[in-house]
Amino acid sequence: MADVALTGVDKFYGVEQALDDVSLTVEDGEFAVFVGPSGCGKSTLLRAIAGLEPISNGTISIGGIDVTGVAPSERDVAMVFQTYALYPHMTVHENMAFGMKVNGVAADERHERVLDAARILQLEPLLQRKPGQLSGGQRQRVAIGRAIVKKPKVFLFDEPLSNLDAKLRVQMRVELEALHRQLGATMIYVTHDQVEAMTMADRIVVLRAGAIEQIGQPLELYRSPRSEFVAGFLGSPGMNFLDVQIEGGLMKLGDVVFGTPGVDEPIVRLGVRPEHIGIVPPGQGRLDVVIDVKETLGGEAYLYTRHEPSDTQLVVKTDGEDPHAVEDRVGLTITDDRLHYFAADEQAVARVIDA
Ligand code: ADP
Ligand code: MG
Repeated sequence: MADVALTGVDKFYGVEQALDDVSLTVEDGEFAVFVGPSGCGKSTLLRAIAGLEPISNGTISIGGIDVTGVAPSERDVAMVFQTYALYPHMTVHENMAFGMKVNGVAADERHERVLDAARILQLEPLLQRKPGQLSGGQRQRVAIGRAIVKKPKVFLFDEPLSNLDAKLRVQMRVELEALHRQLGATMIYVTHDQVEAMTMADRIVVLRAGAIEQIGQPLELYRSPRSEFVAGFLGSPGMNFLDVQIEGGLMKLGDVVFGTPGVDEPIVRLGVRPEHIGIVPPGQGRLDVVIDVKETLGGEAYLYTRHEPSDTQLVVKTDGEDPHAVEDRVGLTITDDRLHYFAADEQAVARVIDA
């Protein structure tokens, strides 16, 4: 078991920079999630840690040992990919044992480790099957089993659940969390899915265009996003952003006053999450809106509303029993403690501002 420390990691593909001065430490035994939109460099970063991708600048160390120039097989890491590429002609047992066989692990030891992994992953009844006789979830469990039998210091997962259907994804998510608790191993998990990041991570690393945008515990990032990018990325539906006008020393959205702007960093945009907006009769809230669209999901409903004077859309999350209909006018309550403030450079202004 080991920590993973990166300092000043750059990666260039020709002139294109895929990683930009990435420095971070994943602690021993931690479950870290790298999250960000497609193309932000998540896979490149994971592959760099695995040694599959040489880096242009910086250092990578695992368990206190500099592995920057070390071959993947010598790094003591195991990687699980989105496409799990099992050998179709081999049984589950043979698939899991194969890597060890290549590495010269004795047959008894191989068998023991396969049985251990199969027990952890509940694959025992399936050991003699071929991949073609398994469901997608079972195949992905075999791929994880191949990683477990290596007894690596660090597990690296690159979107391992993306090929599974929604229900199975949730189930595997829970299984992976249990696996982490059971093994106590250092795990780095890459995903573009903010729900996976929020639910699985001890700490989330948000990446944007190859650089770290913010690192923190899930609720820390949810509550105190450092930028509009993080604010909009975590949470579903995403945070609402309101372009306020500064008039007479006040922040205004149409005729609605939201307080005084910051002095040092003038606030240009406010953020409020759909789940932090309340619904009241018209005239009784902070502002009145019209409902354009209503999505009912059963347990909850989303109202896509519009503040007409400023032509601003506000998504409101409410419960599944919500009685309102499209074209209804409603009042919205937004309390100041739920507001996020952003400056022109899209960075959050942390200061509390009097309304
Ligand atoms: P993610 O996993 O976050 O979707 P990647 O790490 O795969 O993103 O890619 C990051 C950036 O690096 C992208 O702009 C991608 O086009 C580029 N890239 C990735 N691999 C290569 C490669 N082998 N050659 C050139 N560019 C690459
Ligand atoms: Mg990727």
